[in-house]
Amino acid sequence: MSQIINGFTGFNRSVQDDPEVMFSRANEDAEEPREVLPFNEEELEAIGPTDRRWSWLEIDRSAIQHNVQATKRLLKPPTRLMAIVKADAYGHGAVEVAKTATAAGATFLGVATIDEGIELRRAGLTQPILMLSQPPEEAVALLLYYRIMPAIYTHEFAMAYAECADLHGMMAPFHLSINTGMNRIGVRHDEAVSFLRQVSFHRALRLEGCLTHFATADSTETLDWERQMRRFWDCMASIEAAGFDPGIVHCDNSASIYRYPKTHFDMVRLGISLYGYHAAPDTRNYVELKPAMSVHARITNVASVPMSEGVSYGMNYRSPGNVKICTVPLGYCDGLIRLLSGKIDFAYNDRAVHQVGNICMDQCMFEVDMRSHPGRKTPDPRIGDEVLIAGVHPNVDCSVETMAKLACTIEHEVTIGFSHRMARIYK
Ligand SMILES: *Cc1c(COP(=O)(O)O)cnc(C)c1O
Repeated sequence: MSQIINGFTGFNRSVQDDPEVMFSRANEDAEEPREVLPFNEEELEAIGPTDRRWSWLEIDRSAIQHNVQATKRLLKPPTRLMAIVKADAYGHGAVEVAKTATAAGATFLGVATIDEGIELRRAGLTQPILMLSQPPEEAVALLLYYRIMPAIYTHEFAMAYAECADLHGMMAPFHLSINTGMNRIGVRHDEAVSFLRQVSFHRALRLEGCLTHFATADSTETLDWERQMRRFWDCMASIEAAGFDPGIVHCDNSASIYRYPKTHFDMVRLGISLYGYHAAPDTRNYVELKPAMSVHARITNVASVPMSEGVSYGMNYRSPGNVKICTVPLGYCDGLIRLLSGKIDFAYNDRAVHQVGNICMDQCMFEVDMRSHPGRKTPDPRIGDEVLIAGVHPNVDCSVETMAKLACTIEHEVTIGFSHRMARIYK
């Protein structure tokens, strides 16, 4: 039932729903025909990402480089460093991170999927790439064609991979994935030797390495880690005793690299700490890391909102008066977790400003206190002013670590969450 208020009934103009017509001046003919400027497609393309949208990610290559080098200093040569660049390098951009990390001394790359490996190959990366699990058997040809090694744990997969290699006149190098207690993937530690005996007849298969993954390397409770470590150690000894060369032996993830140097073996797998985050509080004692990612925006709207008026969906926040409400163009679609609505600070003008109201899909708001404080210049927020949404700041706690803590998750999920709608600017 439609209700008519003040006699207003809506416009009744007959509208043409064709954009070509909407944008056309063909019918506004009163004017004389005149010279008009045609669009230049190259110039349109050249409008940069931060001019198209006032929110973006900055990735500091020198931080990645620093984290690789600082970690390498803790390794005894010739222990290798594998840069884990799965999940688009934890949201930082796989190709750029892989290039930076390998230039800084990483010699192996770790991915989670075939397509992640292919992306690196197509970008010209020539280092060994280990996929940290098995893809479906249907995809073995892609592994071989793009020279991506799988971490194998089933007989069927090993055979499919080896047969395909044979067919194409290639070797089928692989790492053996060993389950020492995480119970995710892998051949059980006490069945590794019989697995190798079962598959080793195949002339194409070549064992290049052995790995396991720790479930609790970041925990203050070390008993489970020790059990996994001992099982792995025993497993390696039994593989060697059975006459197999285990190849490159590796088990340490970020937490384990810094906490347990005795398990560096032939290679370590650097994931979250490559990006500058500590996987456990006590690793701060062993290494200094620099976060590589920061999130930036520019103000797109400034409004004086009268006292008690609400802001955003649900109006959970009400203006206390004497504030300006500023809008920035990023929201939960971009990775600003909606659960954090009203809980986080941004850095504006070197001070903390509180995010207020529900975070929307594409935008969110923050509050600027306009009351005068002795000894402090009253702020004057303007459209276009830059705001640090997340990252390292000397006076404001807007770190990725804080976001992760407030969202009851880990830094991995926060950085990966910054979506591909956000431009990534490499510095
Ligand atoms: C993701 C992953 C890593 C890296 O872990 P971080 O804790 O991020 O360092 C290492 N090894 C395997 C098998 C993984 O899946």
